[in-house]
Amino acid sequence: MPRLVMKFGGTSVADLERITNAAKKVKQEAEQGFEVIVIVSAMSGKTNELVGWVDQTSTFYDAREYDAVVSSGENITAGLMALTLQEMGVMARSWQGWQVPLKTTSAHGAARIEEIPTHNLDEKFGEGMQVAVVAGFQGIGADGRITTLGRGGSDTTAVAFAAAFEAERCDIYTDVDGIYTTDPRIVAEASKLSKISYEEMLELASLGAKVLQTRSVELAMRYHVTLRVLSSFEDDISMAAGTLVCDEEEIMENNVVNGVAYSRDEAKMTLVSVADRPGIAAAIFGPLSEAGINVDMIVQNISEEGRTDMTFSCPTDQVARAEKALNGAKDSGEINFHGLVSDKYVSKVSVVGIGMRSHVGVAKQMFEALSREGVNIKVITTSEIKISVLVDRKYMELAVRALHDEFELEHAA
Ligand code: ASP
Ligand code: MG
Repeated sequence: MPRLVMKFGGTSVADLERITNAAKKVKQEAEQGFEVIVIVSAMSGKTNELVGWVDQTSTFYDAREYDAVVSSGENITAGLMALTLQEMGVMARSWQGWQVPLKTTSAHGAARIEEIPTHNLDEKFGEGMQVAVVAGFQGIGADGRITTLGRGGSDTTAVAFAAAFEAERCDIYTDVDGIYTTDPRIVAEASKLSKISYEEMLELASLGAKVLQTRSVELAMRYHVTLRVLSSFEDDISMAAGTLVCDEEEIMENNVVNGVAYSRDEAKMTLVSVADRPGIAAAIFGPLSEAGINVDMIVQNISEEGRTDMTFSCPTDQVARAEKALNGAKDSGEINFHGLVSDKYVSKVSVVGIGMRSHVGVAKQMFEALSREGVNIKVITTSEIKISVLVDRKYMELAVRALHDEFELEHAA
């Protein structure tokens, strides 16, 4: 029998009524002849509450106990979903991570999936079970204790099950009806895409479009799991609904640009006049990496008389730590610079599209559109399928709108 993975996020199982609503969709798919694996999140807000309780109890908590507490939200929804399905006449059974077992590393709080043996569930499907409801976000570590996969980890659980059980598809039910060309709160004309490639989705996910956990998209790409993002609040679950995230080859006609992403709270830091010698980049970015700074863009300026300026960007809330690390390296003589200038009020705006690989001129078009609006570009970086710029934060929304217009994304599909 063909298999289907259906994942319901926190807002889709927020109360008993919504669980019933989700269960109806599961029943529909089971009646289509699928063996269904349902992955559930905790009810919305629940995981935050549990994390809060741990924090209040213990400042430097034992991560094994953090996992014991924080994984419990999913156990509740898994049991309730199985009961709801049973009430509807569907043969359903709940499974916690350790029962499957979903085997992970012992990195508590941020465990990685190592293996999902299929025989336990297979056996139950063989005995007539129609639906396995699995608690997302959790597994069992090599140390024999409950682990969690990091916030948003149920998406990754879902994709991993789809890969292990060779499911036809992995449907991610959430509170939006698909992936949009940009944030509809900024651009009312943003349009829903019917398909998007894994590569583009990864760029959009890591750039701040928070629909899917980045790891889950990486995993889907590696195992060629077809993902679909769709709303649990709408009745249509036919293939016309939602957005498919799939291999590039499955998309017939690529738009040159498929999305405009942004990240609001970025900072730009410049080391003024550092000695330009071999090893200088390592000397600067070594201490930053040890301090846990997520450096994003890096630009080294033209060097004059053996000295140069080095600019990089990082999240605004890491600026103080970055300054401390760099000044510390200066004091200890590892690096030598004349000044450190931090601009904490910039944002990153990016255009993304696999069509860029075969089209020239996208950068020029982007820069012209920004210039027409009088938006000054502070830093530029490019990759094969993405062009990103840093702009003053007060122009971020203007830049997003201008680019959405310029690439006519209101007509994208
Ligand atoms: N409940 C977990 C969280 O809130 C996992 C998830 O929902 O994906 O992060
Ligand atoms: Mg989520």
